[in-house]
Amino acid sequence: MNYVIVDRGDRLSKELAAKFHTLAEARGLKRNDEKPEMIISIGGDGTLLQAFHTYVDRVEDVAFIGVHTGHLGFFADWKAEELEELVCMMAESEPSIVRYPLAEIVLDTTEGLSTYTALNEFTLKGVDNTIVAQIDINDELFEMFRGDGIVVSTPSGSTAYNKSLGGAVIHPSIESLQIAEIASINNRVYRTLGSSVVLPQHHHCDIISRKDQRLQLTFDHLNITRNDIRSIRCSVSSRKVSFARYRPFPFWTRVREAFLGYEVK
Ligand code: NAP
Repeated sequence: MNYVIVDRGDRLSKELAAKFHTLAEARGLKRNDEKPEMIISIGGDGTLLQAFHTYVDRVEDVAFIGVHTGHLGFFADWKAEELEELVCMMAESEPSIVRYPLAEIVLDTTEGLSTYTALNEFTLKGVDNTIVAQIDINDELFEMFRGDGIVVSTPSGSTAYNKSLGGAVIHPSIESLQIAEIASINNRVYRTLGSSVVLPQHHHCDIISRKDQRLQLTFDHLNITRNDIRSIRCSVSSRKVSFARYRPFPFWTRVREAFLGYEVK
């Protein structure tokens, strides 16, 4: 099996990466930075986002494993002291693969169309002031938004930025996208629903922003600024991200442990 490591860059993560390489070599696992089958992220959930975007073009051919060097993550379940056990399992057993939905974002700009993929979410904010945008669902006007921004999350991203905005936590087996508002202004001209909206896999939304606004767009941790956007289409991607599981890592256990702190003995 070929693998690559993406580490957070801090001393502990680098030390663990070096240890992993030594253990893996002894077990016959091959390091391959170009075409890995398994991507090991060592750090936190933010590190896994980086790993995802580094290999997004090969997302259908790879599976991710997360080792955390701090708190239990949503994407990272292996602890630093379990590295040997992980390598042993990778060498000796077949993982089960779980596949989670991704968001596809297509920007229609004066330069043409460009497509982005997000594992957690896409966000849209104004650079200079509030953004003004029409939001269509399935090609029909849904609402007129004015406010700080809009966050469109995947189910796995529902525990991230979306949750801070009061959005619902969605199980990643539900192929969907959630649209949450950031500080919308409501009056007679601009009216929004106020609560977050969950779209199923076969629906899409278009965000049609008022001309000439400078917009900040983020795709997980990556961000760009543009002032030439005509519209933005958000839908559930036809591609999915795969995680390799050598032991169970139930979503609701992660939610409970991360947010409520209860550990079942
Ligand atoms: P960051 O600002 O350094 O870290 C954001 C925090 O979100 C970290 O604690 C990270 O965990 C955690 N996180 C990432 N994905 C998560 C998930 N799916 N479920 C629960 N928690 C998650 O930024 P970053 O490390 O580059 O990560 C980018 C992410 O930050 C974005 O995708 C967005 O979701 C999140 N964010 C949240 C807010 C907010 O809640 N107000 C605002 C902006 C961005 P680790 O410590 O394990 O890395």
